[in-house]
Amino acid sequence: MSSSDSILRLAIQKKGRLADGSFELLKRCGLTISHGKDKLYARVEEMPIDVLLVRDDDIPAFVADGASDIGIIGQNVYDEQRLTGDADLPEEPEMRLGFSGCRLCIAVPKGEGYDGANWLEGKRIATSYPGITQAWLKDQGINARTVVMNGAVEIAPRMNIGEAICDIVSTGATLDANGLMPVETIYRSEAILIKSPHRLSDAKQAVFDSLLKRIRGVQDSRE
Ligand code: ATP
Ligand code: ZN
Repeated sequence: MSSSDSILRLAIQKKGRLADGSFELLKRCGLTISHGKDKLYARVEEMPIDVLLVRDDDIPAFVADGASDIGIIGQNVYDEQRLTGDADLPEEPEMRLGFSGCRLCIAVPKGEGYDGANWLEGKRIATSYPGITQAWLKDQGINARTVVMNGAVEIAPRMNIGEAICDIVSTGATLDANGLMPVETIYRSEAILIKSPHRLSDAKQAVFDSLLKRIRGVQDSRE
């Protein structure tokens, strides 16, 4: 058996809002990883696990392709890619991890007289999450256009690109600074563990099972 058949590959965000929680989880599982800042790979010392350090957006496709066996990703990014991307992703994650929580909100300019979801009918909503936003609109029975922006979504109303926006909100300070206020929370997210639909070798499956056990242990001790 070649080592690539027995070493489990785990993809996590290299740097950012998911990375800290992901490294923290591994640490609490009793796992030590040695990683240099510019490295793509890190090796877990206690178990045959290779950690792939990448941008979060790449993780679902890596896991769908089997380039990585498992991964840690924000549920928001995962669901958005599941709804609009071309990778074949299972609907349900392997496990919810409870960190990197955030919410997606519709926000409108202050003083617009927002009086419920119907206000959005026929309007344009600027967002980096057109899939999740459209799913919510459909659920509400509202027709509205989504205008995709990959950053600085909060400037859209001022630039007359959209009458409303849908974006990740944490403190609301960014919205406030841009004259916007949140009016609907349409989605709540947290970090999730996802697993490749490709069958794992028996050796990898055994490593995965024992990793899951450690993660469950960490989660139980938090409750
Ligand atoms: P990368 O360089 O890996 O592409 P990024 O800039 O896309 O990073 P981050 O800002 O690190 O991503 O956010 C990653 C994930 O963290 C988000 O998709 C979301 O699930 C979660 N998250 C938690 N809190 C926040 C927040 N306040 N703002 C944005 N994302 C948050
Ligand atoms: Zn990203």
